[in-house]
Amino acid sequence: MNSPLLLPDYNSGPALRSWLEERGLSIRKQWGQNFLINPSARRSLVDALDAKGEVWEIGSGPGCMTAELLNRGMRVTAFEIDPGLCPILEELFAPSGRFTLIRGDVLKTWKTAQRAPYLLGNLPYTIAALFMGNLIEDRCFFTRMVVTVQKEVALRMAAPPGSKDYSSISVLCASAYTMKIIMTLKPPSFYPVPHVDSAAVCFEKRAGAPFPPPFFYPLIRALFASRRKTTANNLQNFLVHSGTLKEKTAAEQAAAVLKGCGISGRERAEKLPPETFFALAAELEKYVGTGDDHKRTDRKDQGTD
Ligand code: SAM
Repeated sequence: MNSPLLLPDYNSGPALRSWLEERGLSIRKQWGQNFLINPSARRSLVDALDAKGEVWEIGSGPGCMTAELLNRGMRVTAFEIDPGLCPILEELFAPSGRFTLIRGDVLKTWKTAQRAPYLLGNLPYTIAALFMGNLIEDRCFFTRMVVTVQKEVALRMAAPPGSKDYSSISVLCASAYTMKIIMTLKPPSFYPVPHVDSAAVCFEKRAGAPFPPPFFYPLIRALFASRRKTTANNLQNFLVHSGTLKEKTAAEQAAAVLKGCGISGRERAEKLPPETFFALAAELEKYVGTGDDHKRTDRKDQGTD
């Protein structure tokens, strides 16, 4: 790195705040700016990523993780929304020759960036589930991802079938990755100190994960739409509202799909493993064509159901 003197003290919240204020900036709550000031946690996250070559870093902030990645010889494509931080990031890291900044909202910009095999992000709560869902549904896959999110969201992402945290985001993540919670981070690891615990999740791409049938993603959302209802009931609702019913009634068609997969309609979605969602989506396709009309408009529910 050519400009080490410009780097702030990433291990001290007050020092980071002063450093930003000297540059006319403040810490912005609206963008979930809680910076990771715990140096051993930063090192452990990058160790877990175990990246070679190119990394996407989501939400660089003042560069706490960026500096660690660059110091280990990686090439970093960083995404940052805060227009005040962007010129500072470029000033600090562009001299390395291994840093590219994509300015703006990552939910809108990620498709413009050159793909990388690894992703690291201390994700703001407001976008975490939505962003991860977008990547998976749009089949933007990584060899490995390490993301730090609110602990509750991490538990849902990594939850096995039948557990209390198992939800649509669990199925979505498990459709392409195996997940492991590698670390819980208490609030004082961040500055400003948040009100909740965080956890880091490591996602490893599953070799040979099946290609999702067209109805797979809308079906996951539909079957978790009402947790108290049975799979048969949620499936019927999906058939009615998707406008794909053919000659049969929704109840008859749902029964035929369930029978074709050999599963009981009385089960609730929270008990079904991801393979069953694959099987149901494939069976459904036989009856109602492709799922292209049922693409999601919003995925915020996946962090909260
Ligand atoms: N990487 C730094 C760290 O670990 O300390 C900062 C993490 S902070 C929790 C989240 C960062 O994401 C902030 O810098 C924030 O400005 C940025 N951010 C929030 N929403 C974003 C969005 N929609 N697109 C891109 N960056 C965003």
